[in-house]
This record gives sequence, structure tokens and C-alpha cells, in this order.
Amino acid sequence: MNTAPLSGWGRWPVISACKVAPKNEAEAIALLSDGEKLISRGLGRSYGDPALPSAEGGRVVDSLAMSRMESFDESTGALVAEGGVSLAEIIEAFLPRGWFLPTTPGTKFVTLGGAVAADVHGKNHHVDGTFGTHVTFFDLVVPGGQVLRCSPEKNSEIFAATIGGMGLTGHILRVGLRLRRVPSAWCKVRYMKAGNLEAMVHLLSEHDASYRHTVAWIDCLESGEALGRGILMLGNEAAVDELPPEHREHPHALPRRRKLSVPFDFPGWALNSLTVKAFNAIYYGLGRDCEKLVDFEKFFYPLDAISHWNRIYGKRGFIQYQVFFPDCSAVQGLRKTLDAISRSGLSSFLAVLKRCGPANTFPLSFLDTGFTLALDMPVVPEKLDVLMPELERILAEHNGRIYFAKDACAAPDLIPKMYPRLDEFRKVQRALDPRSVLRSHLSTRLGLI
Ligand SMILES: Cc1cc2nc3c(=O)[nH]c(=O)nc-3n(C[C@H](O)[C@H](O)[C@H](O)COP(=O)(O)OP(=O)(O)OC[C@H]3O[C@@H](n4cnc5c(N)ncnc54)[C@H](O)[C@@H]3O)c2cc1C
Repeated sequence: MNTAPLSGWGRWPVISACKVAPKNEAEAIALLSDGEKLISRGLGRSYGDPALPSAEGGRVVDSLAMSRMESFDESTGALVAEGGVSLAEIIEAFLPRGWFLPTTPGTKFVTLGGAVAADVHGKNHHVDGTFGTHVTFFDLVVPGGQVLRCSPEKNSEIFAATIGGMGLTGHILRVGLRLRRVPSAWCKVRYMKAGNLEAMVHLLSEHDASYRHTVAWIDCLESGEALGRGILMLGNEAAVDELPPEHREHPHALPRRRKLSVPFDFPGWALNSLTVKAFNAIYYGLGRDCEKLVDFEKFFYPLDAISHWNRIYGKRGFIQYQVFFPDCSAVQGLRKTLDAISRSGLSSFLAVLKRCGPANTFPLSFLDTGFTLALDMPVVPEKLDVLMPELERILAEHNGRIYFAKDACAAPDLIPKMYPRLDEFRKVQRALDPRSVLRSHLSTRLGLI
């Protein structure tokens, strides 16, 4: 068996693992029948260790060899595609025909299987909910090799546990998804500056009824009066008559641009609190209150324009810390989190705040009414060892929770409090997989199963 170093998008931790890529349903069934420890993997865009085998070993089921689109109903937007199909492939095929994803994470290099397993969310959570709420059914191979069709009506408990279940209930073979008609491939975006966290939270709450897509960039190295200052982006899909004349004939065509790439690992010192502070000051300083037409690619996927951007943190890698706080404790929780990070000097120029709408019915889904903050931090073990326990205390005091798809270093103790329906998930998982054949580095680290 050939093993190779494997990591998530944050490039930490790195685990030696053997990948196997079933090419069809029969091969996937055979793989899940032989009792070996496994965990599924899509495009590896989860940041930490959800798509890595557990510390006791096991193989990785690579879904990318099963990436066929199977059917599409032009009258309803109902798509059926295999779990290894990426969101990028769906956009490429259907945006020119006027259809887009019902919601999308900040990268399109994510598979359908990965999007369902993490129940990903986008900038429109307050309007459209999570990805899983637009899934009509999926076919799941469970340990032992049985294939179950799961939907809100059929095997409904397995359906709910799998959405957000981080690959621990089975391997998703195919997904039925409802795409959404869009008037064009452009958004009309209003940019507004907010001088501190309270102002930002107020603006996000005030505007979420009028805009489908909302997101804010936060300068997370600022402290004191300016803590949480940033730039808010509020977008609605643009109608054809709002486009410049040259784009009206083909309103769903995306402009072609040259892709940039980070060709090598940046040295560890390149990103430090001084360089990031300087970047943040310039970015904030250049921001203006204004309205612009922005194409989907630039609005939804700004980071996808630069391949291998994860190399800018150097070989040491980075973690992404994403937390959710409910409305009642959001300002306090966010303030303390930003303050702790700012004091730690762990530099992050990518900090994003989003408003979220009501929770769905899936037991391990991440979001509820409130706010979610996501930011990158370089892996500096001696600093993280001090910062992480402090962040966990803040989470505990403010009813916060972490996002499994981004996690690499949370401790297990708080997970049942963060996810009060964990036992409901475990009951379904145990019935499907009593020997815990499916396990990941994340699931053993956090004691999910
Ligand atoms: C730049 C960037 C921006 C992002 N923005 C967002 C965002 O805005 N919102 C958000 O919610 N997430 C966001 N993410 C995270 C990303 O959307 C999720 O981690 C997603 O799950 C990654 O999908 P993947 O195909 O890469 O899956 P992987 O990372 O390979 O796997 C993720 C999980 O899915 C499971 N899985 C994968 N395929 C299958 C399958 N076929 N069957 C069963 N389980 C499977 C794995 O076991 C694992 O637990 C972002 C990531 C990046 C890199």
C-alpha cells in the first residue's frame, strides 16, 4: 500500500495516508464492505483534519474518480450528480444556462460530497439557509456495503445525520440538488465601512432583510476603540437591465481572467503582525462607501483567483478558526475573541464576519441565528497553546461553537455543550456503523463517535 503525506487546506496537521479512489458504485461498495477503517475525501478544502484518517490509521476514500453529472431538469433546476462533482463544474455547466448554486462557500473547489458532509453555508445563510436544505436526496454506501437512498421522506434520520455529519455515516455516491435561477452572473454590491465591531454588527443586522448576500471583512489586529473595524459588502443579484450594455446580450457569461498562482512556500517571517497590520491598514484605508457591479467569480470566490494561496503561510501551515455566537451573546463573544487574537499577535489578514439565519433540522449543522467569524492564523505552536484555551473559555461563556469543517485543534470537552444534539447524531451513526469503521482524525480527536 503506497502512503503519502496528506493534509487539509491549512496544511496542518500532516498525516501519512493511503488514498483509494473507487471508479464506480461496485468498487465503492466493495471498499466499504471489507471492514477496514476509512474516511471519505473530496477536494481536501476542509482546513484541518476532517478528511484525514484517524491517528490509528486507515485509508482515505477519494471521491474524485466518481464525478459524473447524471441528469438535469431544465424546468425545475433539479440536478443529480455524483459526490465527486465539484461546485466549479456545476457552475461551468449551468451558469451559462441561467442556473446557479442555491448557496455556496467561499471557494468553488469543493465537491458535492464535501458540501453535504459539512453542510456548508454561504453569504446568504440569513435568506437561503445551508447547502443541505437544498438537497433533495442522496445515495449513501454505509459500512457493510448497503446503498441507502436518503431524503427528507426516506431514511430521514440518516439523511439528517449525514448532512453536517462529516463523512461519519457513509460515503455519498450521488446527490440530488435544486439549483436556483439567477437573472445574470453579476451582483450589485454596496460597500460600507464600519469603524468598530458594534457598528459592523449593527449594519449587518440592519441590512440583512434587503440583501441576499452579506459579508464583512474585519481588521482583526485592531484593538481598543477600533476593534472589529472593517468593510461590509452587501449584494443582490443584478437584473439584465442593470448590466452595462456590453454584458446584456450574454448576462450569464463570466469574464475570463488570467489566474495567478503562489509558486512556492513563502518564508515563515513573510507574514507577521507588522506586515499584516500594514496590509490591513491599507485595505481599510482604501475602502470607500460605494456601489459597484461585480461578477459572481469575484464576489463569491475572490480567493480562487490565486491558486495555491495556502502557500503564503509557508511550510508551517495555518489553521482557520471559525466560531458561531448566537444573537444574545454575539457582540460580547466576538469582542473578546477578537481582543484575544489581537493580543496574541497571530496575524490574520483574512477575517470574515457573516450574519446567520435560523438553524435547520440537522443535528450537527453549525449555524443558527447570530454571527459567525472566520479567520486564519499561522501555526505557531507556543502561541496557539496559550491562545486556544482562552478562546475555548470565551466560547463556553458565550454559548459559542466551532465549525468542524475548519477545525484542527479544538479540545473534546466542550463539544457536547456546543452541539447539544450530538447524541442524536451518535445514535444514528452507531446503528449504521457499530464498529466505527468510518473515522477521521477529527472524529477521534473530538470524540464525535
Ligand atoms: C478558501 C475556502 C473558503 C471556504 N469558505 C467556506 C464558506 O464560506 N462556508 C463553508 O461552509 N465552508 C467554507 N469552506 C470549507 C469547505 O467548504 C468545506 O470544508 C467543504 O467540506 C470542503 O469540501 P471538499 O470536497 O474539499 O471536502 P474535504 O475537505 O475533502 O472533506 C470534508 C468533509 O467531507 C467528508 N466527505 C467528503 N466527500 C465525501 C463523500 N463523498 N461522502 C461522505 N463524506 C464526504 C470528509 O470525510 C470530510 O469530513 C472554505 C474552504 C476554503 C479552502
